[in-house]
Amino acid sequence: MSDFNWCHGPSCHTKQTVDRVRGVKGSKVLRTRKIKTSNWNRGNWYNYFCGNHCYDEYVNKHIDQVIAIAPRTECLETPIHDPKKETHRHEYSWGVNEWTNTKIEVDESRQS
Ligand SMILES: [Zn+2]
Repeated sequence: MSDFNWCHGPSCHTKQTVDRVRGVKGSKVLRTRKIKTSNWNRGNWYNYFCGNHCYDEYVNKHIDQVIAIAPRTECLETPIHDPKKETHRHEYSWGVNEWTNTKIEVDESRQS
């Protein structure tokens, strides 16, 4: 297994940055970036893309095939306890601040 990948961004080689310039005088090119495999990027998309832009371009170009790998044909659900409204009150020198938030907790006993 090689210790690097070429960036999979479909237009990585067209981005006009100095680090992509390769070749000898008179026949210079812009080349796809090379990504060194490290403990930091092993097993995630950073090992295959030089950045968000290339990642987005690849996914947008191949979205139908990407979704076909693991299509979501029905919704998923996480069981929760009945949400509880909690009212908070804090007194400041300038007055009283009151706010309400809703506490949502996962019901571990119904988790599959
Ligand atoms: Zn790239």
